[in-house]
Amino acid sequence: MGKCTQCLTDSNVVKNGLNKYQKQNYLCKSCKKQFIDRSSFSAIVSTIQLLTLSKFF
Ligand SMILES: [Zn+2]
Repeated sequence: MGKCTQCLTDSNVVKNGLNKYQKQNYLCKSCKKQFIDRSSFSAIVSTIQLLTLSKFF
């Protein structure tokens, strides 16, 4: 289980079912934010970074 992407707490994160894309959803009990599996999240971030970079180069 990963850290919360918002407050970086790793002890209050619980599984919260699947989202509409069938990705594992997590809920942070500290800040009440929901986020998806970190491996999926970083894949999305790197795609965004590639798209952003391609605009500049
Ligand atoms: Zn949090």
